[in-house]
Amino acid sequence: MSKVLIIGCGGVASVAIHKCCQVPEVFTDICIASRTKSKCDKLAAELAPKTTTNITTAQVDADHVDEVIALIKSYQPDLVMNIALPYQDLTIMDACLACGVNYMDTANYEPENTDDPAWRAIYEKRCKEAGFSAYFDYSWQWAYAKKFEEAGLTALLGSGFDPGVTQAYCAYAKKHEFDTIDTIDILDCNGGDHGYAFATNFNPEINLREVSAPGSYWENGHWVEIPAMSIKREYDFDKVGQKDMYLLHHEEIESLAKNIPEAKRIRFFMTFGQSYLDHMRCLEDVGMLSTTPINFNGQEIVPIQFLKALLPDPASLGPRTKGKTNIGCIFTGKKDGKEKTYYIYNVCDHQECYKEVGSQAISYTTGVPAMCGALMLLTGKWTTKGVHTVEEFDPDPYLDALDKYGLPRSESHSPALVD
Ligand code: NDP
Repeated sequence: MSKVLIIGCGGVASVAIHKCCQVPEVFTDICIASRTKSKCDKLAAELAPKTTTNITTAQVDADHVDEVIALIKSYQPDLVMNIALPYQDLTIMDACLACGVNYMDTANYEPENTDDPAWRAIYEKRCKEAGFSAYFDYSWQWAYAKKFEEAGLTALLGSGFDPGVTQAYCAYAKKHEFDTIDTIDILDCNGGDHGYAFATNFNPEINLREVSAPGSYWENGHWVEIPAMSIKREYDFDKVGQKDMYLLHHEEIESLAKNIPEAKRIRFFMTFGQSYLDHMRCLEDVGMLSTTPINFNGQEIVPIQFLKALLPDPASLGPRTKGKTNIGCIFTGKKDGKEKTYYIYNVCDHQECYKEVGSQAISYTTGVPAMCGALMLLTGKWTTKGVHTVEEFDPDPYLDALDKYGLPRSESHSPALVD
Protein backbone atom coordinates (compact mmCIF):
# COMPACT_ATOMS: atom_id res chain seq x y z
CA MET A 1 0.00 0.00 0.00
CA SER A 2 1.96 3.01 -1.22
CA LYS A 3 1.40 6.48 -2.52
CA VAL A 4 3.83 7.56 -5.21
CA LEU A 5 4.34 10.93 -6.87
CA ILE A 6 5.67 10.52 -10.41
CA ILE A 7 7.12 13.68 -11.96
CA GLY A 8 7.28 13.71 -15.78
CA CYS A 9 4.91 12.23 -18.31
CA GLY A 10 7.10 11.69 -21.39
CA GLY A 11 8.21 8.50 -23.14
CA VAL A 12 9.92 6.82 -20.19
CA ALA A 13 7.45 7.97 -17.53
CA SER A 14 4.54 6.70 -19.58
CA VAL A 15 5.99 3.15 -19.55
CA ALA A 16 6.85 3.36 -15.83
CA ILE A 17 3.28 4.50 -15.09
CA HIS A 18 1.78 1.66 -17.18
CA LYS A 19 3.98 -0.75 -15.23
CA CYS A 20 3.08 0.72 -11.80
CA CYS A 21 -0.56 0.18 -12.72
CA GLN A 22 0.23 -3.51 -13.36
CA VAL A 23 1.27 -3.81 -9.68
CA PRO A 24 -1.67 -2.11 -7.95
CA GLU A 25 -1.12 -4.07 -4.73
CA VAL A 26 2.06 -1.99 -4.20
CA PHE A 27 1.28 1.17 -6.19
CA THR A 28 -2.15 1.73 -4.67
CA ASP A 29 -2.14 5.49 -5.37
CA ILE A 30 -0.12 7.42 -7.91
CA CYS A 31 -0.12 11.09 -8.79
CA ILE A 32 1.21 11.89 -12.27
CA ALA A 33 2.57 15.43 -12.25
CA SER A 34 4.28 17.24 -15.07
CA ARG A 35 4.77 20.60 -16.70
CA THR A 36 1.99 19.89 -19.20
CA LYS A 37 -0.94 18.54 -17.18
CA SER A 38 -3.04 17.63 -20.24
CA LYS A 39 -0.55 14.80 -21.04
CA CYS A 40 -0.97 13.44 -17.49
CA ASP A 41 -4.77 13.64 -17.77
CA LYS A 42 -4.74 11.81 -21.11
CA LEU A 43 -2.61 8.96 -19.74
CA ALA A 44 -4.66 8.75 -16.52
CA ALA A 45 -7.89 8.49 -18.55
CA GLU A 46 -6.37 5.72 -20.69
CA LEU A 47 -5.16 3.70 -17.69
CA ALA A 48 -8.02 4.20 -15.22
CA PRO A 49 -10.32 1.53 -16.75
CA LYS A 50 -7.49 -1.03 -16.77
CA THR A 51 -6.19 -0.80 -13.18
CA THR A 52 -7.27 -0.55 -9.57
CA THR A 53 -4.44 1.93 -8.87
CA ASN A 54 -6.03 5.21 -7.89
CA ILE A 55 -4.58 7.80 -10.32
CA THR A 56 -4.64 11.57 -9.85
CA THR A 57 -2.80 14.24 -11.82
CA ALA A 58 -1.22 17.61 -11.10
CA GLN A 59 0.63 20.43 -12.82
CA VAL A 60 4.13 21.19 -11.59
CA ASP A 61 7.16 23.02 -12.90
CA ALA A 62 9.88 21.00 -11.21
CA ASP A 63 12.51 23.66 -11.96
CA HIS A 64 10.97 25.44 -8.94
CA VAL A 65 11.65 23.77 -5.58
CA ASP A 66 8.75 25.56 -3.89
CA GLU A 67 6.25 24.15 -6.42
CA VAL A 68 7.53 20.60 -5.85
CA ILE A 69 7.44 21.11 -2.06
CA ALA A 70 3.83 22.36 -2.22
CA LEU A 71 2.82 19.34 -4.30
CA ILE A 72 4.58 16.84 -2.01
CA LYS A 73 2.96 18.47 1.04
CA SER A 74 -0.50 18.26 -0.45
CA TYR A 75 -0.15 14.68 -1.86
CA GLN A 76 1.95 13.18 1.00
CA PRO A 77 3.67 10.44 -1.08
CA ASP A 78 5.93 7.66 0.25
CA LEU A 79 8.27 8.11 -2.72
CA VAL A 80 8.94 10.66 -5.48
CA MET A 81 9.88 9.14 -8.84
CA ASN A 82 11.68 11.76 -10.91
CA ILE A 83 11.16 10.77 -14.55
CA ALA A 84 11.26 14.30 -15.90
CA LEU A 85 14.67 15.44 -17.20
CA PRO A 86 18.11 15.39 -15.55
CA TYR A 87 17.83 19.19 -15.28
CA GLN A 88 15.31 18.75 -12.47
CA ASP A 89 17.27 16.24 -10.34
CA LEU A 90 18.58 18.71 -7.78
CA THR A 91 15.39 20.73 -7.30
CA ILE A 92 13.41 17.52 -6.76
CA MET A 93 16.05 16.16 -4.35
CA ASP A 94 15.88 19.45 -2.41
CA ALA A 95 12.10 19.17 -2.21
CA CYS A 96 12.31 15.54 -1.03
CA LEU A 97 14.73 16.56 1.72
CA ALA A 98 12.51 19.45 2.77
CA CYS A 99 9.50 17.11 3.03
CA GLY A 100 11.20 13.94 4.34
CA VAL A 101 10.41 11.71 1.33
CA ASN A 102 12.51 9.09 -0.49
CA TYR A 103 13.69 9.97 -4.02
CA MET A 104 14.62 8.14 -7.21
CA ASP A 105 15.51 9.04 -10.80
CA THR A 106 16.74 7.53 -14.07
CA ALA A 107 19.64 9.80 -15.08
CA ASN A 108 22.22 11.90 -13.25
CA TYR A 109 22.16 15.66 -12.99
CA GLU A 110 23.18 17.94 -15.78
CA PRO A 111 22.33 21.62 -16.10
CA GLU A 112 20.04 22.92 -18.81
CA ASN A 113 22.26 25.93 -19.41
CA THR A 114 25.86 24.80 -19.76
CA ASP A 115 26.93 28.41 -20.30
CA ASP A 116 25.96 29.42 -16.78
CA PRO A 117 29.26 30.86 -15.41
CA ALA A 118 28.81 29.51 -11.86
CA TRP A 119 28.19 25.97 -13.13
CA ARG A 120 30.90 26.31 -15.79
CA ALA A 121 33.59 27.17 -13.23
CA ILE A 122 32.85 24.02 -11.21
CA TYR A 123 32.61 21.95 -14.40
CA GLU A 124 35.95 23.11 -15.73
CA LYS A 125 37.67 22.38 -12.42
CA ARG A 126 36.15 18.87 -12.47
CA CYS A 127 37.26 18.27 -16.09
CA LYS A 128 40.82 19.07 -15.11
CA GLU A 129 40.82 17.07 -11.89
CA ALA A 130 38.78 14.04 -12.94
CA GLY A 131 39.82 13.87 -16.61
CA PHE A 132 36.50 13.54 -18.45
CA SER A 133 34.48 16.32 -19.98
CA ALA A 134 30.85 15.10 -20.13
CA TYR A 135 28.38 17.68 -18.90
CA PHE A 136 26.85 15.18 -16.50
CA ASP A 137 28.54 13.55 -13.53
CA TYR A 138 27.61 12.23 -10.10
CA SER A 139 29.37 14.88 -8.01
CA TRP A 140 26.28 17.10 -7.75
CA GLN A 141 24.05 14.35 -6.41
CA TRP A 142 26.69 12.58 -4.32
CA ALA A 143 27.08 15.91 -2.53
CA TYR A 144 23.60 15.22 -1.03
CA ALA A 145 24.69 11.91 0.57
CA LYS A 146 25.15 13.21 4.12
CA LYS A 147 21.89 15.18 4.05
CA PHE A 148 19.87 12.14 2.93
CA GLU A 149 21.63 9.90 5.45
CA GLU A 150 21.01 12.31 8.31
CA ALA A 151 17.36 12.66 7.29
CA GLY A 152 17.02 8.83 7.28
CA LEU A 153 16.06 8.94 3.59
CA THR A 154 17.14 7.04 0.49
CA ALA A 155 17.90 8.57 -2.90
CA LEU A 156 18.21 5.90 -5.59
CA LEU A 157 20.09 7.30 -8.58
CA GLY A 158 19.75 6.09 -12.15
CA SER A 159 17.25 3.23 -12.12
CA GLY A 160 16.80 2.94 -15.89
CA PHE A 161 18.54 0.36 -18.09
CA ASP A 162 21.88 2.07 -18.57
CA PRO A 163 22.40 3.46 -16.00
CA GLY A 164 20.42 1.10 -13.85
CA VAL A 165 20.10 -2.53 -14.90
CA THR A 166 23.68 -2.55 -16.20
CA GLN A 167 24.88 -1.78 -12.65
CA ALA A 168 22.64 -4.48 -11.21
CA TYR A 169 24.25 -6.88 -13.72
CA CYS A 170 27.66 -5.81 -12.34
CA ALA A 171 26.51 -6.34 -8.74
CA TYR A 172 25.10 -9.73 -9.77
CA ALA A 173 28.37 -10.76 -11.48
CA LYS A 174 30.31 -9.70 -8.39
CA LYS A 175 27.95 -11.54 -6.03
CA HIS A 176 27.50 -14.81 -7.94
CA GLU A 177 30.06 -15.22 -10.73
CA PHE A 178 33.41 -13.71 -9.71
CA ASP A 179 35.77 -13.27 -6.77
CA THR A 180 37.40 -10.40 -8.65
CA ILE A 181 36.24 -8.57 -11.78
CA ASP A 182 39.05 -7.42 -14.09
CA THR A 183 37.15 -5.79 -16.98
CA ILE A 184 33.60 -4.67 -17.69
CA ASP A 185 32.28 -3.86 -21.17
CA ILE A 186 28.74 -2.47 -21.27
CA LEU A 187 27.18 -3.05 -24.70
CA ASP A 188 24.03 -1.16 -25.69
CA CYS A 189 22.65 -2.31 -29.02
CA ASN A 190 19.53 -0.98 -30.65
CA GLY A 191 18.72 -3.11 -33.67
CA GLY A 192 15.42 -1.30 -34.19
CA ASP A 193 14.47 0.53 -37.38
CA HIS A 194 11.87 3.35 -37.31
CA GLY A 195 12.09 4.13 -41.01
CA TYR A 196 13.10 7.81 -40.56
CA ALA A 197 16.43 9.04 -41.90
CA PHE A 198 17.08 10.59 -38.48
CA ALA A 199 15.29 10.52 -35.15
CA THR A 200 16.35 10.03 -31.54
CA ASN A 201 14.89 7.28 -29.39
CA PHE A 202 14.56 9.41 -26.29
CA ASN A 203 14.64 13.12 -25.48
CA PRO A 204 16.63 14.54 -28.44
CA GLU A 205 18.41 17.20 -26.42
CA ILE A 206 19.71 14.76 -23.81
CA ASN A 207 20.45 12.08 -26.41
CA LEU A 208 22.38 14.34 -28.83
CA ARG A 209 24.40 15.92 -26.05
CA GLU A 210 25.42 12.47 -24.88
CA VAL A 211 26.53 11.08 -28.22
CA SER A 212 28.27 14.20 -29.53
CA ALA A 213 30.49 14.48 -26.43
CA PRO A 214 34.03 13.04 -26.27
CA GLY A 215 34.13 9.35 -25.38
CA SER A 216 35.94 8.12 -22.31
CA TYR A 217 36.64 4.95 -20.38
CA TRP A 218 38.16 3.97 -17.07
CA GLU A 219 41.54 2.23 -17.14
CA ASN A 220 43.99 1.46 -14.35
CA GLY A 221 42.51 4.01 -11.96
CA HIS A 222 42.01 6.94 -14.30
CA TRP A 223 39.91 8.25 -17.19
CA VAL A 224 41.10 7.99 -20.78
CA GLU A 225 39.32 10.51 -23.01
CA ILE A 226 39.05 10.16 -26.79
CA PRO A 227 37.41 12.22 -29.57
CA ALA A 228 33.69 11.44 -30.07
CA MET A 229 33.05 8.22 -32.03
CA SER A 230 36.77 7.52 -32.55
CA ILE A 231 36.78 3.95 -31.17
CA LYS A 232 34.65 1.60 -33.23
CA ARG A 233 34.11 -2.13 -32.83
CA GLU A 234 31.83 -4.70 -34.45
CA TYR A 235 29.84 -7.17 -32.38
CA ASP A 236 27.49 -10.00 -33.24
CA PHE A 237 24.57 -9.48 -30.86
CA ASP A 238 22.27 -12.36 -29.90
CA LYS A 239 18.86 -12.02 -31.66
CA VAL A 240 20.03 -8.84 -33.47
CA GLY A 241 23.12 -9.73 -35.49
CA GLN A 242 26.27 -7.88 -36.48
CA LYS A 243 26.38 -4.15 -35.59
CA ASP A 244 28.92 -1.33 -35.49
CA MET A 245 29.32 0.11 -32.00
CA TYR A 246 31.22 3.12 -30.68
CA LEU A 247 32.83 3.86 -27.36
CA LEU A 248 30.96 6.59 -25.42
CA HIS A 249 31.34 8.17 -22.03
CA HIS A 250 28.47 6.93 -19.87
CA GLU A 251 27.48 7.85 -16.36
CA GLU A 252 27.55 4.43 -14.75
CA ILE A 253 31.28 4.05 -15.51
CA GLU A 254 31.90 6.69 -12.84
CA SER A 255 29.97 4.94 -10.07
CA LEU A 256 31.20 1.47 -11.07
CA ALA A 257 34.82 2.66 -10.89
CA LYS A 258 34.09 3.74 -7.33
CA ASN A 259 32.08 0.71 -6.23
CA ILE A 260 34.03 -2.05 -8.04
CA PRO A 261 37.50 -0.60 -7.47
CA GLU A 262 39.34 -3.75 -8.54
CA ALA A 263 38.07 -3.37 -12.14
CA LYS A 264 41.05 -2.47 -14.30
CA ARG A 265 39.00 -1.32 -17.26
CA ILE A 266 35.36 -0.23 -17.69
CA ARG A 267 34.05 0.72 -21.13
CA PHE A 268 30.66 1.52 -22.66
CA PHE A 269 29.72 0.92 -26.30
CA MET A 270 26.56 1.90 -28.15
CA THR A 271 25.51 0.88 -31.65
CA PHE A 272 24.83 3.55 -34.28
CA GLY A 273 23.99 3.25 -37.96
CA GLN A 274 25.89 5.28 -40.55
CA SER A 275 22.87 7.47 -41.36
CA TYR A 276 22.51 8.53 -37.72
CA LEU A 277 26.20 9.43 -37.50
CA ASP A 278 26.19 11.36 -40.78
CA HIS A 279 23.17 13.41 -39.73
CA MET A 280 24.60 14.10 -36.32
CA ARG A 281 27.92 15.28 -37.73
CA CYS A 282 26.20 17.69 -40.14
CA LEU A 283 23.92 19.05 -37.43
CA GLU A 284 26.90 19.58 -35.17
CA ASP A 285 28.96 21.22 -37.92
CA VAL A 286 26.23 23.78 -38.63
CA GLY A 287 25.69 24.54 -34.95
CA MET A 288 22.29 22.89 -34.51
CA LEU A 289 23.41 20.97 -31.40
CA SER A 290 24.37 24.16 -29.56
CA THR A 291 22.68 25.03 -26.27
CA THR A 292 23.72 28.69 -26.55
CA PRO A 293 20.74 30.93 -27.41
CA ILE A 294 20.93 32.92 -30.64
CA ASN A 295 18.83 35.84 -31.80
CA PHE A 296 16.74 35.04 -34.87
CA ASN A 297 14.46 37.71 -36.34
CA GLY A 298 14.18 39.39 -32.95
CA GLN A 299 13.46 36.17 -31.10
CA GLU A 300 15.85 34.25 -28.89
CA ILE A 301 16.08 30.54 -29.78
CA VAL A 302 18.26 27.71 -28.51
CA PRO A 303 19.41 25.73 -31.59
CA ILE A 304 19.11 22.26 -30.02
CA GLN A 305 15.61 23.08 -28.72
CA PHE A 306 14.59 24.24 -32.18
CA LEU A 307 15.98 20.99 -33.60
CA LYS A 308 13.95 19.06 -31.02
CA ALA A 309 10.80 20.75 -32.34
CA LEU A 310 11.64 19.58 -35.87
CA LEU A 311 12.50 15.97 -35.04
CA PRO A 312 9.89 13.23 -34.60
CA ASP A 313 8.63 12.99 -31.01
CA PRO A 314 10.35 9.87 -29.58
CA ALA A 315 6.93 8.80 -28.26
CA SER A 316 5.65 8.67 -31.86
CA LEU A 317 8.27 6.09 -32.91
CA GLY A 318 6.46 3.25 -31.15
CA PRO A 319 4.17 2.07 -33.94
CA ARG A 320 6.92 2.35 -36.60
CA THR A 321 9.88 0.72 -34.86
CA LYS A 322 10.65 -2.88 -35.68
CA GLY A 323 13.49 -5.05 -34.38
CA LYS A 324 15.11 -5.70 -31.03
CA THR A 325 17.42 -4.15 -28.46
CA ASN A 326 20.15 -6.11 -26.73
CA ILE A 327 21.80 -4.45 -23.72
CA GLY A 328 24.15 -6.07 -21.24
CA CYS A 329 27.61 -6.44 -19.71
CA ILE A 330 30.57 -8.66 -20.54
CA PHE A 331 32.96 -9.42 -17.69
CA THR A 332 36.38 -10.95 -17.39
CA GLY A 333 37.82 -11.87 -14.01
CA LYS A 334 38.61 -14.70 -11.63
CA LYS A 335 36.65 -17.26 -9.65
CA ASP A 336 38.36 -19.73 -7.31
CA GLY A 337 41.71 -18.75 -8.78
CA LYS A 338 40.62 -19.45 -12.39
CA GLU A 339 40.16 -16.93 -15.23
CA LYS A 340 36.58 -16.73 -16.49
CA THR A 341 34.28 -14.67 -18.71
CA TYR A 342 30.57 -13.95 -18.35
CA TYR A 343 27.92 -12.04 -20.33
CA ILE A 344 24.52 -11.06 -18.93
CA TYR A 345 22.05 -9.17 -21.12
CA ASN A 346 18.44 -8.53 -22.01
CA VAL A 347 16.84 -8.74 -25.44
CA CYS A 348 13.71 -6.65 -25.91
CA ASP A 349 11.43 -6.47 -28.95
CA HIS A 350 10.17 -3.03 -30.07
CA GLN A 351 6.85 -4.31 -31.43
CA GLU A 352 6.12 -6.44 -28.35
CA CYS A 353 6.65 -3.35 -26.17
CA TYR A 354 4.35 -1.34 -28.39
CA LYS A 355 1.64 -4.00 -28.12
CA GLU A 356 1.89 -4.03 -24.34
CA VAL A 357 2.28 -0.36 -23.38
CA GLY A 358 2.17 1.68 -26.60
CA SER A 359 5.90 2.59 -26.57
CA GLN A 360 9.06 1.41 -28.31
CA ALA A 361 11.75 -0.60 -26.52
CA ILE A 362 14.01 2.34 -25.57
CA SER A 363 11.32 3.86 -23.37
CA TYR A 364 10.28 0.37 -22.24
CA THR A 365 13.77 -0.71 -21.19
CA THR A 366 14.04 2.47 -19.08
CA GLY A 367 10.49 2.64 -17.72
CA VAL A 368 10.36 -0.96 -16.45
CA PRO A 369 13.54 -0.59 -14.32
CA ALA A 370 12.19 2.71 -13.00
CA MET A 371 9.11 0.87 -11.73
CA CYS A 372 11.25 -2.01 -10.40
CA GLY A 373 13.55 0.43 -8.53
CA ALA A 374 10.49 2.03 -6.93
CA LEU A 375 9.23 -1.46 -6.08
CA MET A 376 12.50 -2.24 -4.25
CA LEU A 377 12.20 0.92 -2.14
CA LEU A 378 8.47 0.60 -1.44
CA THR A 379 8.60 -3.09 -0.45
CA GLY A 380 11.60 -2.62 1.83
CA LYS A 381 14.00 -4.73 -0.29
CA TRP A 382 16.39 -1.79 -0.59
CA THR A 383 16.63 0.29 2.56
CA THR A 384 20.14 1.77 2.76
CA LYS A 385 19.90 5.45 3.65
CA GLY A 386 21.84 8.11 1.78
CA VAL A 387 22.42 8.63 -1.96
CA HIS A 388 23.15 5.40 -3.83
CA THR A 389 23.46 3.93 -7.30
CA VAL A 390 21.93 0.60 -8.27
CA GLU A 391 25.10 -1.54 -7.89
CA GLU A 392 25.21 -0.66 -4.19
CA PHE A 393 22.06 -2.70 -3.50
CA ASP A 394 21.28 -6.43 -3.58
CA PRO A 395 20.79 -7.23 -7.29
CA ASP A 396 18.78 -10.43 -6.74
CA PRO A 397 15.27 -9.06 -5.98
CA TYR A 398 15.69 -6.34 -8.63
CA LEU A 399 16.70 -8.80 -11.37
CA ASP A 400 13.87 -11.12 -10.28
CA ALA A 401 11.43 -8.22 -10.63
CA LEU A 402 12.84 -7.35 -14.08
CA ASP A 403 12.45 -11.00 -15.15
CA LYS A 404 8.83 -10.87 -13.98
CA TYR A 405 7.83 -7.48 -15.36
CA GLY A 406 9.16 -7.67 -18.89
CA LEU A 407 12.98 -7.55 -19.05
CA PRO A 408 14.20 -11.12 -18.48
CA ARG A 409 17.94 -11.76 -18.39
CA SER A 410 19.91 -14.04 -20.69
CA GLU A 411 23.46 -15.18 -20.03
CA SER A 412 26.49 -16.78 -21.60
CA HIS A 413 29.56 -18.24 -19.93
CA SER A 414 31.61 -18.22 -23.12
CA PRO A 415 30.87 -14.88 -24.83
CA ALA A 416 32.87 -13.35 -27.65
CA LEU A 417 34.97 -10.59 -26.05
CA VAL A 418 35.43 -7.04 -27.37
CA ASP A 419 39.09 -6.26 -28.14
P1 NDP B 1 10.70 13.17 -22.47
O1 NDP B 1 11.23 14.44 -23.04
O2 NDP B 1 9.89 12.25 -23.33
O3 NDP B 1 9.81 13.49 -21.17
C1 NDP B 1 10.22 14.39 -20.19
C2 NDP B 1 9.02 14.71 -19.34
O4 NDP B 1 9.46 15.59 -18.29
C3 NDP B 1 7.91 15.43 -20.09
O5 NDP B 1 6.69 14.95 -19.61
C4 NDP B 1 8.14 16.89 -19.70
O6 NDP B 1 6.98 17.69 -19.71
C5 NDP B 1 8.59 16.72 -18.27
N1 NDP B 1 9.32 17.89 -17.82
C6 NDP B 1 10.34 18.53 -18.43
N2 NDP B 1 10.70 19.60 -17.73
C7 NDP B 1 9.88 19.65 -16.65
C8 NDP B 1 9.76 20.53 -15.55
N3 NDP B 1 10.53 21.59 -15.43
N4 NDP B 1 8.82 20.27 -14.63
C9 NDP B 1 7.99 19.19 -14.74
N5 NDP B 1 8.07 18.32 -15.77
C10 NDP B 1 9.01 18.55 -16.70
O7 NDP B 1 11.96 12.39 -21.85
P2 NDP B 1 12.15 10.82 -21.71
O8 NDP B 1 10.91 10.22 -21.18
O9 NDP B 1 12.75 10.31 -22.96
O10 NDP B 1 13.29 10.75 -20.60
C11 NDP B 1 12.98 10.86 -19.22
C12 NDP B 1 14.23 10.65 -18.39
O11 NDP B 1 14.74 9.33 -18.58
C13 NDP B 1 15.38 11.60 -18.74
O12 NDP B 1 15.98 12.01 -17.54
C14 NDP B 1 16.32 10.73 -19.53
O13 NDP B 1 17.66 11.18 -19.44
C15 NDP B 1 16.14 9.41 -18.80
N6 NDP B 1 16.57 8.24 -19.58
C16 NDP B 1 17.30 7.28 -18.93
C17 NDP B 1 17.71 6.15 -19.59
C18 NDP B 1 18.38 5.05 -18.83
O14 NDP B 1 18.57 3.96 -19.38
N7 NDP B 1 18.78 5.24 -17.58
C19 NDP B 1 17.44 5.93 -21.02
C20 NDP B 1 16.57 6.96 -21.60
C21 NDP B 1 16.20 8.07 -20.90
P3 NDP B 1 6.45 18.41 -21.06
O15 NDP B 1 5.53 17.42 -21.65
O16 NDP B 1 5.79 19.65 -20.60
O17 NDP B 1 7.67 18.69 -21.92
